[in-house]
Amino acid sequence: MSWTIVLDEDLCQGHGVCESEAPDVFTVSRDGVLTILDTRPPDDLRGAVELAVRHCPTHAIRITEE
Ligand code: SF4
Repeated sequence: MSWTIVLDEDLCQGHGVCESEAPDVFTVSRDGVLTILDTRPPDDLRGAVELAVRHCPTHAIRITEE
């Protein structure tokens, strides 16, 4: 089963907590725009991404299973 990161751009406020938790997956520019570097990262990054999801202050990111 594969998993995908989904971003709700309307909710994201560019706090960068996700980047702190999973810098290989998320990067936030100086002006607060989030880029997801890999929406389907390898499984060894799953734990870090789950922490990013949990700690995002606006609940803008989630994981979907396929
Ligand atoms: S997804 Fe959440 S933690 Fe990441 S930049 Fe957007 S608001 Fe901040």
